[in-house]
Amino acid sequence: MKTKPLTIGSHEIGGKTFTVFAGPCAVESEENFKTIGDFVKKQGAQGLRGGIYKLRTNPESFQGLGEKALPLVKKIKSELGLLFVSEITDPRQRESLEDVVDIFQVGTRNMFNYELLKELGKSTKAVLLKRNFSARIKEWLSAAEYLIKYGNDQVILCERGIRTFETEMRNTLDFNAVVYIKKNTSFPVIVDPSHGSGDRTLISSLAQGAVAVGADGLLLEVHSQPEKALSDGQQSLGLEEFSRFMETLKRILPVFNRELYTSPV
Ligand code: PEP
Ligand code: MN
Repeated sequence: MKTKPLTIGSHEIGGKTFTVFAGPCAVESEENFKTIGDFVKKQGAQGLRGGIYKLRTNPESFQGLGEKALPLVKKIKSELGLLFVSEITDPRQRESLEDVVDIFQVGTRNMFNYELLKELGKSTKAVLLKRNFSARIKEWLSAAEYLIKYGNDQVILCERGIRTFETEMRNTLDFNAVVYIKKNTSFPVIVDPSHGSGDRTLISSLAQGAVAVGADGLLLEVHSQPEKALSDGQQSLGLEEFSRFMETLKRILPVFNRELYTSPV
């Protein structure tokens, strides 16, 4: 089936251009977020990521800056002119986050949260719907149908790895699902090799694989000091690694008849 591209302002996702969303797992401070944002923009990212509310396995782990991050994120994102994607973890956050994000992220843990999906159905902002780590493709697509039924058809799917019997890596990236989605649905689909592997040394190869299987873009964790990151440092690319990866990406995209988005500014 042909992918129906999604248009957000001057941006298109799922068309000829290949979209890279990059940034830290979590927004940690204004200075840090700006450094990373400036850098990823210069390297050709079209979107900026950064968690404001974090759902962490351990309650002692950094939970995100929360609402106090909203003004600083709004400022930086408008200076950069990148699409900003951030996770919503509770339906009550919709109104305040809507003022800041271009795309709501539904994280893996919330793919099955139907009340959250119904709430996002009311939004005029696009939704990046991550696959739950134990969801079948059918269940993932049913979650997307919730968004559509409740009023929002601006849906991007994100494959971020599933749990298998394999224990060497955090998750197992399911390229079958990407090919299946492209073949059988019209949703744009992007791949998150950061959560898909949990290991920064695997990310460049997995990301190249994502291009080859037809993904419309990537969601990548990038940090200026990965070893000091407050979350997911082990799977975050450093700035130089990201820059090298983007050089490779620019070389391989034309082979697959894609090109990197070029910013008008
Ligand atoms: C994230 O993108 O930082 C995140 C928490 O993702 P996931 O929900 O896929 O684990
Ligand atoms: Mn993360």
